[in-house]
Amino acid sequence: MSDLLQRLRGRGWRLTAQRRVVAEVLDGDHVHLTADEVHARAAARLPEISRATVYNTLGELVSIGEVIEVSTDGRAKRYDPNAHRPHQHLVCSRCGTIRDVHPSGDPLAHLPSSERFGFTVSEVEVTYRGLCPNCATA
Ligand SMILES: [Zn+2]
Ligand SMILES: [Zn+2]
Repeated sequence: MSDLLQRLRGRGWRLTAQRRVVAEVLDGDHVHLTADEVHARAAARLPEISRATVYNTLGELVSIGEVIEVSTDGRAKRYDPNAHRPHQHLVCSRCGTIRDVHPSGDPLAHLPSSERFGFTVSEVEVTYRGLCPNCATA
């Protein structure tokens, strides 16, 4: 579990009904929703929630580091509550399903210093692509 709600409570984030619904929609494993998907699911629980509120709440969750933004292939940005455990993504090139994966070893170590061009490298983003089991058998 991402435990997003629990983390937000733990840090004393003010949970209004609207913010709670956004956090509930995002809570869970392998959750990577676009802002529009978050809004649609939040509105199913709290019909009066506005798109602007959803967008603002997402922006705030990102800025406090509890949700990360993921972009794959110029598709719409997705929001990922698995912000505390470094992970990479496995993406189905047909249906867009995304899984959180944890490759073994330190991905930073795979870039030799001769290839770093003086950069201080702080982050690695790897996307593994292929077909998910559903698409592979379709
Ligand atoms: Zn698929
Ligand atoms: Zn993820």
